[in-house]
Order: sequence, then C-alpha cells, then structure tokens
Amino acid sequence: TDLLALIARHVRDIADYPRPGVVFKDITPLLADPAGFAAVVKAIAGPLAGERIDLVAGLEARGFIFGAPVALELGAGFVPLRKAGKLPAATFAESYDLEYGTATVEVHADAISPGSRVLIVDDVLATGGTGRAAVDLVRRAGGTVVEFSVLMELGFLEGREKLSDVELRALTTV
Ligand code: 5GP
Repeated sequence: TDLLALIARHVRDIADYPRPGVVFKDITPLLADPAGFAAVVKAIAGPLAGERIDLVAGLEARGFIFGAPVALELGAGFVPLRKAGKLPAATFAESYDLEYGTATVEVHADAISPGSRVLIVDDVLATGGTGRAAVDLVRRAGGTVVEFSVLMELGFLEGREKLSDVELRALTTV
C-alpha cells in the first residue's frame, strides 16, 4: 500500500548503531516529511476511531512524537511514560532487563484514573522488553490497555511473544 511504501522510503537503516552489529531503524526522515508524518499518525489512530480511548500513553522519547498527535486525533489526553528520574511527582516504576543491565519506565501515580482506557504508542517494537514494562506499568496505574501500537515491528526479535496478552498493532513488520 501507499502507507507501507511511504514508511519504507522514509525509515532508514543505520548500521552499527548503537553498537556494532545492530541495524537501527531511524525514523527521523519520516518526521521531516509532513505528508509521511501525518499519514502515520492517521494510520495509528484510524483503527481506534470507533472506540473510547481516554488516554494515549507515549514511551519516551519517540513514542512522545507519535503519541501526542494521535491523542489529539482521538480526542484523548496524553500521558508520558518516562525513563527513571524524569517525572517530578510520585510515580509507579517498572524495570526490565536489557542485554547489559536494566532499564526502568515510570508514570505519575495519579496520571491514569482507574478504568481509563489507554492506547500505548511507541515507534519500534524490538525485543519487547520496553513494551512489556509499559503494559504492566499502565495496568498497575489502573488503566485498561486497549492496544499497544507501533510504527514498526522487528519481527526477527520476536518481541510480540512477550505481549501475547495485549492487542498489538504494527503498521509494518520487517
Ligand atoms: P525493545 O525494548 O522492544 O527491545 O526496544 C524498543 C524500544 O527501543 C523502543 O522504545 C524503541 O524506541 C527503541 N528501539 C529499539 N530498537 C530501535 C530501532 O531500531 N529504531 C528505533 N527508532 N527505536 C528502537
């Protein structure tokens, strides 16, 4: 489709970033293209147009860029899921394992009122560790995760297997 061609054209491979042997999907050319950026935001929001979404939770940092316009498109609020130590008020935290060490995502403890219907947005699903932590965090904060939506899924990393209890949507899988 046009959307897939557009993503293929505007997401570039960067070899050996952030480490030797890793090929990083760089979405910044897509953001710089107004038609491409708008099409991706509409494609993420579109399938949810008929559903009640109270909040869009975006994962720092690229999930903020896509999540915020998706929230506006859906008439929802926006909640940042941030790396440890960035949020000023009381938080819930969820840690997950990385190849070397651990990482933590946090949300304000009062950001999600019980029963809120939440769409989680990020740019890329890789191993699924970040997405798993985000889903657990939103649920702990009282939200119902309606869907976890990403622009791109790296299928060979099998992150989807960590999210079998969540509605997972990827605009494209590579
Ligand atoms: P995971 O936890 O699924 O291994 O990694 C996903 C997280 O790392 C996401 O927040 C995503 O932004 C970032 N990430 C991992 N690999 C890539 C990549 O190749 N390109 C981009 N843009 N982000 C990535």
